[in-house]
Parts: sequence; structure tokens; C-alpha cells
Amino acid sequence: MPGITTAERTISLIYDLTQARLKTLLASWGEKNFRVDQIWQGLYKQFWQSPEQFTTLSKSLKQKMIAYLRFSALEPVRELASKDGDTIKTLFRLTDGPSIEAVLMRYEQRRTLCISTQVGCAMNCSFCATGQMGFTRHLTSGEIVEQVIYYARMLAKTDEKVTNVVIMGMGEPFHNYDATMQAIDILNDHEGFNFGERRFTISTVGLVPMIYKFANEKRQINLAISLHATDNALRSSMIPINTKHPVEELIAACRQYVAQTNRRITFEWALIQGVNDSAQNAKDLADMLHGLLCHVNIIPLNPTNDFEGQASSINQALRFQAEMESHNIPCTIRLRRGIEIAAGCGQLASTDTPL
Ligand code: SAH
Repeated sequence: MPGITTAERTISLIYDLTQARLKTLLASWGEKNFRVDQIWQGLYKQFWQSPEQFTTLSKSLKQKMIAYLRFSALEPVRELASKDGDTIKTLFRLTDGPSIEAVLMRYEQRRTLCISTQVGCAMNCSFCATGQMGFTRHLTSGEIVEQVIYYARMLAKTDEKVTNVVIMGMGEPFHNYDATMQAIDILNDHEGFNFGERRFTISTVGLVPMIYKFANEKRQINLAISLHATDNALRSSMIPINTKHPVEELIAACRQYVAQTNRRITFEWALIQGVNDSAQNAKDLADMLHGLLCHVNIIPLNPTNDFEGQASSINQALRFQAEMESHNIPCTIRLRRGIEIAAGCGQLASTDTPL
């Protein structure tokens, strides 16, 4: 096609394009700028899925879009809903074969999505179902964006909207930093989906150099750190990357982040019976976080096949919480939503149960 460069021929998934890239592409096709707005709004306000739905576009433009762009990279192959219907988990097959998962959680006024950034994960955390799978590949920014648009489209049918997005699904977002940030930027675009940065939370295993980079960018995205242990030997046994970025370096990076951004950090703590749930564990954690603008989120362990640990009892979780609060560290216990539908990280993609 005249005016199309090799680079543009290789562009495929429409959600991979920033608005600026879409503009360049359409200009190379000899199209006027207002067409960009029409397409952008069709994608991010109407959640249209196929070129035929873009009724205001000319036939020739639609034909080019069909020839050069893909409108979906995610095929929903399995969907599980909790009994009350408030939690929905979807397994998506990617064009090249592997699967990822994402979850919608309705809770009071919130409509929170938990989305993935990689197929599998390279971090190999012992207690994590995704970690146990190993790493296949990074998702592109468009594959990350499309998970959100999929649920936005589903919710629009009942006049509901996505209110929060947590990047806590499969994968380590700071290992796929650029694609994750580009996805957030595309979803944040004010002329499109217009989803504020403050409504995103990124959870990282603690890739220290990326925490410094993220701090420098002064974004308004919430940051959560998977801490789970204060002691290096224990943390390394659960989270192998801790041998490269030990806990003191991680906490130093977190302190720097708070100093630079003045934003509160969430520390995640998967509570495992007899491993990290004692009063002494809580006290060590409180000492480590002393003076840091933060919040602790306790998640009773979600049992997985290849990990022997068990979840602590609710009473133990309440004692841990009380100990944290006695040191003036705000602490919440995260409710385990969707356990009955294997909505814990990586748990759907790693089961073979047919629907
Ligand atoms: N890779 C990122 C985000 C994905 S996991 C990270 O490590 O933060 C999201 C959260 O779920 C992390 O805090 C992770 O440690 C936790 N998690 C993983 N498997 C779990 C399990 N079996 N039970 C409880 N929490 C788990």
C-alpha cells in the first residue's frame, strides 16, 4: 500500500498504538486528523471491537484497517464467575497460543480489575502459581490494554465502569516496565479511556533499580511491594530475586521513593502459618518500616500445588494486624475473593479443569 513504511506494516494490534502512533499511521494513509479522533473514541469510549462497528469511517479506511491492524489479541476461552457473580475470572488465549488470566472484582461501589503483564513469570517465587509455571514471554502494551477494555465493554452493558486496576495478575510488571507504562499511558489518555493514574496499583516483587526509575518518573500510580519476610534467608527462600536485591536495599529504595514522591507505599505480606505470622515477625516488620509512609496488606496464603505452606488462621491474621497497629502502622487483611473460582494469581492458567 502506498505511503506505508515497513515499520507500519509490522504494526498489528490496534491497542498497541498510542494516539500519536495512530496519527502517524493515518497520516501515512493520507487520512485526515479527525479520523484519529473517531477511531480513538470508538476504541476507548464505545469499546468497539471490529472495523465494521466504525460506521462513520469511509469504506476504504475500514478496508485498510482490516488489512493492516488486528482488533483483538485476546480470545476469552474460559470464564468463571463466583456464586454471587461479583467476581469473574477470564482465561484468554493469545494469538500465538499461550494463555493469561485477568479478574474482575465487584465490591460495593468498586469495580476492580486484576490484570497480567507477562505469560508466566521469571521470578520463580515458591508460593506463587505463576512463578511455578516459569516464564514464556512479555505481553505487549496492547495485550495489557485489551484486558482492561474487555472488562470495560462487559461492564458497560450494565452501565458499570471500571474504577480501579491492580497490576497483580500473572507476571512481574517491573520486568516488563516499558510495555506496562505504555499501557497505563494509553489507558490514561484524556481523549480516550481517561483512566487516572491514581486508580492504578502496580505490585512488584522488588526490582530495586526499577523502583528508583519509577520514583524518578514521579507518576501518580500506586506502588505495592511484595515483601512477605524481613529476614534475607527466609525472603530468599520464598522470592529468589531477593538474593540479588536484598531486603535492606529494597527498603532503602522504598524510602527514597517516598521521599521523592511523598506517596504511601503498600507492603504485601502473604501470611503463612508458622513461617511469617508470629508476633515477633510482626514486630520485625514494624521495626523495618518504622517512620516510612506506608500501609501493610496481609493476604492469607492462597494454597498452590507446589508449595507446602498453609494459610494462617483468621485469628492469627487478626493478631498480626493488631501488633502492626500497636506500632502505628496501618494494616488491613485482604479478603480472599474468588478463591472458589481459582482467582488467586496464576491459578486458572495452571489448572486443566474444563468448564
Ligand atoms: N509479580 C508481582 C505481581 C503479581 S503477584 C509481585 O510479585 O508483586 C501479586 C501479589 O500476590 C504479590 O504480592 C504476590 O506475592 C502475591 N501472591 C502470589 N501468590 C500468592 C499466594 N499463593 N498466596 C497469597 N499471595 C500470593
